[in-house]
Amino acid sequence: MQITKNSVKTNPGPSEWFTGSVYVDSVAVPSGPSRVNASSVHFTPGARTAWHKHPNGQTIYVIEGIGLVQRRGGSIEVIRPGDRVFFEPGEDHWHGASPNRFMTHLAMLDVDDQGNAASWGDHVSDAEYSAAPAMGED
Ligand code: MN
Repeated sequence: MQITKNSVKTNPGPSEWFTGSVYVDSVAVPSGPSRVNASSVHFTPGARTAWHKHPNGQTIYVIEGIGLVQRRGGSIEVIRPGDRVFFEPGEDHWHGASPNRFMTHLAMLDVDDQGNAASWGDHVSDAEYSAAPAMGED
């Protein structure tokens, strides 16, 4: 048994992978035969991942706030607490907070044989991000 106390520091999301301020707390790391990698990811308003893919797919589960998700070629979708999203293996996508609200989600995936969780592409531009539907005023 191993208890990891919540006194460990939160980790700023690297700028190669994110736009805006994001903080990542590890929930589960691959160990022995387990490939499960899980994180609690905290996005400040307007922050989002870059475009990326997961070799074995990914599930995100919204804990707090209002978020946005998009797969390549699809429209931007609004996600709220209790919503979950599965991204297929190799599906190009991004996820993040809405422009005016924080968003926290759990992110869960299985790493591949080499331990890779994701492959990263271009940042989501302001033009791409601003295609999000208006919200918060209704
Ligand atoms: Mn993802």
